[in-house]
Amino acid sequence: MAPFGSEIFANASGAHAGARAARRAVEESREVVASLLGARPSDIVFTSGGTEADHLAVLGTLAAAARHGGPIAAACSRVEHAAVLEPLRAAARGLAAVHGVGTLRVEEVAVSAEGVIDLDALGEALGEDTVLVSVMRANNEVGTLQPLDAVARVVRSRAPRAVLHTDAVQAAAYVDLATSTAGCDLVSISAHKLGGPKGAGALVVREPCRIAPVLHGGGQEHERRSGTHDVAGIVGLATALGAAAKTRDDECARVGALRDRLADTLLASVPDTAQSAPRDAVLPSHCHLRFSGVDQEELLVMLDRGGVYASAGSSCASGAIEPSHVLLAMGVDPREARSAVRFTLGHTTTVEEIDLAAGVVAEAVGGLRS
Ligand code: PLP
Repeated sequence: MAPFGSEIFANASGAHAGARAARRAVEESREVVASLLGARPSDIVFTSGGTEADHLAVLGTLAAAARHGGPIAAACSRVEHAAVLEPLRAAARGLAAVHGVGTLRVEEVAVSAEGVIDLDALGEALGEDTVLVSVMRANNEVGTLQPLDAVARVVRSRAPRAVLHTDAVQAAAYVDLATSTAGCDLVSISAHKLGGPKGAGALVVREPCRIAPVLHGGGQEHERRSGTHDVAGIVGLATALGAAAKTRDDECARVGALRDRLADTLLASVPDTAQSAPRDAVLPSHCHLRFSGVDQEELLVMLDRGGVYASAGSSCASGAIEPSHVLLAMGVDPREARSAVRFTLGHTTTVEEIDLAAGVVAEAVGGLRS
């Protein structure tokens, strides 16, 4: 990434030699990203991250469909990230009128106790007017993987007009997206979930799917996303995706074993601890536990003091933690949802850190309960 912040600083859209060097880097990165995602280079739209990729997928599809007139519908799982849920809800409220979205019905489809989408409910939610279905590859909080092949079969049979989008932001480091998202028209990824830079991402727009732009201006990315390219970020995204693909099998096994070690230790040493979803249903990086009777905010403060960086549900603007919409959708009661903590492991996590963390967590939970 470094040369693109210094000697090759030119705008990739320019017409001079410096610009050509920057553009070459963007196009080489596009080829790498495309081949690792099972797409063609022309299918890749670089964005400023996962949030923008999700917005482009959602609003770009709705705006393209709304051009044909008539009421339209969209569906998603209840456990989607806010970057999918909120633009859908905003469009349904008519706030996205600027994008041309008229009457829109949004169905938020139920999930099982493990967080897996209910395929029968999905089928019932779809119809001739459905233009978009968005189901994430893996959930960011609990880590639950969704059965995208089965989702695609339901969508193709019940909603022939629909574009299928998957938010693969959380899954990209651990799941081969080229095969497992082959049935999707749109796929969002984000570099920082792969160890790449923050503020870089991409949306795969698989032919013959068409989206309308959300950002208008210079017409970059074949008119699909205007704005000067973040060349360094794009190079970082491609490099991180390549590195993750190379080490994926080994890292899945290594990180999964560390996650199991953490979960097993805490389930054995801390009474009234529950795992939110079975391990074979979630990403190897995710350890999502509930410590009955313990307030997650207090626990996070204690863990932070002990050097353990964990997280809970999403924080609202006031800083207070709301009970997670993901856990509520899984049928967890709001009180219990407030006792949940998510531990996320990654390529830097070591066995020493796991053992240290397990000790800090056990002591903190014990302290809070007493
Ligand atoms: N989607 C999921 C599932 C995520 O986990 C995140 C970030 O945590 C996003 C979207 C947003 O991505 P970004 O932070 O790159 O905007």
